[in-house]
Amino acid sequence: MPDLSREIRHFPPADPGPNPIHIGVACPSAYPVALASLGYQTIHLLAHSHPGFVTHRIVLNKADGTVYPSRTLEEGLRINSLAALLFSCSFELDYLHLVRILDEAGIPILRRDRGSTPLVIIGGIAPTANPEPTAMIADAISIGEGEETLPGVLDDIQGAFPLLQGPRFLEARQRLYELWDSRDGVYVPALWEDEKGGFFERNGRRLVQASVSDPDRHPSYTPVVSPEGVYGAKNLVAISSGCPAGCRFCLLSYVFPPGPHRSVESILENAGHFSPDEASVGLVSSRVSDHPHLARVINALTDDGFEVSVSSLRIAGTTTDILDALARSGSKTVTFAPEHGSARIRDLFCKPHTYEEIRDRVVRAYDAGISRVKLYFLTGFVEETAEDLDATPDFVLSLASDARLASRPAECRLTVGLAPFVPKAATPFQRRPMDDEKTLRRKMKRITDPLKRRPRIEVEIESPRSAIMQGALSQGDRTIAAHLAEIARTRGALVRSWDEALRKAGDGPRRRVLESRDESAALPWSFIKRPKSGNDP
Ligand code: SF4
Repeated sequence: MPDLSREIRHFPPADPGPNPIHIGVACPSAYPVALASLGYQTIHLLAHSHPGFVTHRIVLNKADGTVYPSRTLEEGLRINSLAALLFSCSFELDYLHLVRILDEAGIPILRRDRGSTPLVIIGGIAPTANPEPTAMIADAISIGEGEETLPGVLDDIQGAFPLLQGPRFLEARQRLYELWDSRDGVYVPALWEDEKGGFFERNGRRLVQASVSDPDRHPSYTPVVSPEGVYGAKNLVAISSGCPAGCRFCLLSYVFPPGPHRSVESILENAGHFSPDEASVGLVSSRVSDHPHLARVINALTDDGFEVSVSSLRIAGTTTDILDALARSGSKTVTFAPEHGSARIRDLFCKPHTYEEIRDRVVRAYDAGISRVKLYFLTGFVEETAEDLDATPDFVLSLASDARLASRPAECRLTVGLAPFVPKAATPFQRRPMDDEKTLRRKMKRITDPLKRRPRIEVEIESPRSAIMQGALSQGDRTIAAHLAEIARTRGALVRSWDEALRKAGDGPRRRVLESRDESAALPWSFIKRPKSGNDP
């Protein structure tokens, strides 16, 4: 069990009023991951700050997915006694834990089977890209940024609350659905069904995704830190969202358009909620090195006594100033994503950097005093030849040699993260097939074998089986609710439950993700009107 006495919390004052509504903020991951999720903690902060509500955290009891909570984390309230559950889902695999949390709490998985509170509200980047896999489960799905959608959703719950508690729940819920439906970025799947339980027929209506136009208007920090977090006691602060790079497989560039950068003053204010003795600072963005004042921010925080780290750096824009500032602040690791060793495959998905550009950043990082460089790579593209596959280990070994890794201080490491390509909804690669499990294993072995037992090179790989499951959920429509309901009823390893669900409810979702989709085939998520990104698929 987490030791909550180790937590340090800095929330703004709450205003629950005399008759507060008790709601759950649920992270379908274990406690250390919940602490390291800026999305989850932002929802917690927003709900906590909303007048009239008291929030209760819900996290998984165990990371292995075998034990699910039926009570809230600190107060031990029964989850099914709450008025609403706000689920934050960054990844598609979160849905598997989400349904098990509902089941463990005795809450029917499918919306049509529920006749009382709690309401189930889901948000996050995964459902924003494609909400349909949870459309039979959720009462509402936040499409876009929660800062814009959640306050209105909570206001409407407050208005409907007395009636929601009584025997006229279904009538009150229907009224609530209609209120929510008029709000940008709030998807009420029950109101988007055709007579056949429809998945695609929406009479031309489109749902407008909500986006934040001025990030400085909203706080962005993690109000709870603890040494038990995945990254230790670290306060995560967003410095911008979206990405202009347009890598053709990447959700972040197509679902969230690059908005304005957060101002230096706002970043420092959010970081300053904790003292340097309480927490280090993690600056979060998919384009962190694009922030025009990044080195200034890091240096200012370092001068105030903070240790500072950043999320993955884009190769373009990573200057010596930034790397020096990070090393000075005590940061030990930087991450880049070359994505592939073959220039031909990098071109295929619009990652235009040359080996030399990447090598220069890696050498600069080590020279600045950073001891660990992590590089992300992908495989699983139908165009990959044997030569392309060999290009990735060649790339890594050349880097290790050109960066003189062997002669650097003993703690220096080069870490390679290798993951299968997953075709994500709403990206230009949304119609592409995934390689099957056998092919992925063969490709991953060919890439990683030459890197084994190489001094100071470490390799981390993502499971092909779990990646295919992720792909099926990313591309899924409402029919996948039957599989999720089946998974809710079982416990133990998710991959085994998934296989069992495919056996019982049909293996359509798995087959669909292994085949390419015809250009004329309707896509379940095409009814969402995205903000203009300049990178529309
Ligand atoms: S640079 Fe990174 S975050 Fe930006 S589009 Fe490419 S992969 Fe996505």
